[in-house]
Amino acid sequence: MITITGTAQKTAWDAGVLPPVERVGPDIWSIPVPIPNNPLRYVIVYVIELPNGVAIVDAGWNTEEAWETLNNGLARAGASMNDVKAILVTHIHPDHYGLAGRVREVSGGWIALHPADAKLIPNRYVDPQQLVEETTRSLRRTGVPELSIEELATASLAIRMFVSTAEPDVLLEDGDHVDLPGIDLTALWTPGHSPGHLCFYSQSRRILLAGDHLLPRITPIVTIHTQQAPDPLGQYLGSLERIRSLGVDEVLPAHEYRFSGLSERVDQLLEHHEKRMTEIVERLSDSPGLAGWDLTRSLSWAHAFNELPLYMQRAAVGEAMAHVVVLEHRGVITRHGTDPECLYLSADAPGPEDQPVRDAK
Ligand SMILES: [Zn+2]
Ligand SMILES: [Zn+2]
Repeated sequence: MITITGTAQKTAWDAGVLPPVERVGPDIWSIPVPIPNNPLRYVIVYVIELPNGVAIVDAGWNTEEAWETLNNGLARAGASMNDVKAILVTHIHPDHYGLAGRVREVSGGWIALHPADAKLIPNRYVDPQQLVEETTRSLRRTGVPELSIEELATASLAIRMFVSTAEPDVLLEDGDHVDLPGIDLTALWTPGHSPGHLCFYSQSRRILLAGDHLLPRITPIVTIHTQQAPDPLGQYLGSLERIRSLGVDEVLPAHEYRFSGLSERVDQLLEHHEKRMTEIVERLSDSPGLAGWDLTRSLSWAHAFNELPLYMQRAAVGEAMAHVVVLEHRGVITRHGTDPECLYLSADAPGPEDQPVRDAK
């Protein structure tokens, strides 16, 4: 059974206010740090008390409000920014990594990331031109109308101002013991939501610091895009299976609220994705040859697709295509043609001799 253990967080969530700073273990605190203009509202930064200072897990967005909230939260936990010895970043999304550089500047603490996310920093945050070009090509392949491609390809560039780019000092690989005094913490590589996503597991305390890998209420977004592995959802489902049986009494996620019932939550998420794949199969059975973009628009979404902001439309097509790739790997779906690629159930797919001939000379 899934039980919400962060009851004060849940009450605050329902009331639409920021939850309190709380002690969530003998030497662990949670600090909700606001995210501007975002339905997730806050990221939860965890503070681990060490004999010689504190470590934090994730840092928050790079805004003044977030900075102030983090400072105040550290004070509530009896520490200050100067005490931060380590900044463990679950992944490089701006709500987790955005403030890491500024925290390091003030505290001298080291920043840790998984290499697969560290690798993305230059492209994502320093020189995004190549990223935009690759995104344009991939949107064209999924059949996005030419008029919308540029807008969609550049839809999330504005986010960069919420990140201070900081290269990590420490790279954490799967299974690495995090070098902190007084706590056993193992880095678990859980790719999917991000190629280098990390969870942190303490066996002795039976807790999982889960980042965005699993949240109690929403499904973390797993999309195909140019900075992703070729099969992110396949990886994600594998990463869920992997943590399913850990000895964990409480999951400490980076959003929403704390909960218990790890394996049950994993099962719900696995089921959610299977349902989505069934929906895709049904759609392609009714309309063979749909391009990714049209398939995406035909799926059920919580809000009217056309009213979604552009960056969410782009995420939606990436999410639908992530399911398509898993179905391809299972042999259920076949692509045919280019620009756009048309999707068929393998049983209905045109033969290779029917491939359109391009650039025939
Ligand atoms: Zn994220
Ligand atoms: Zn997040």
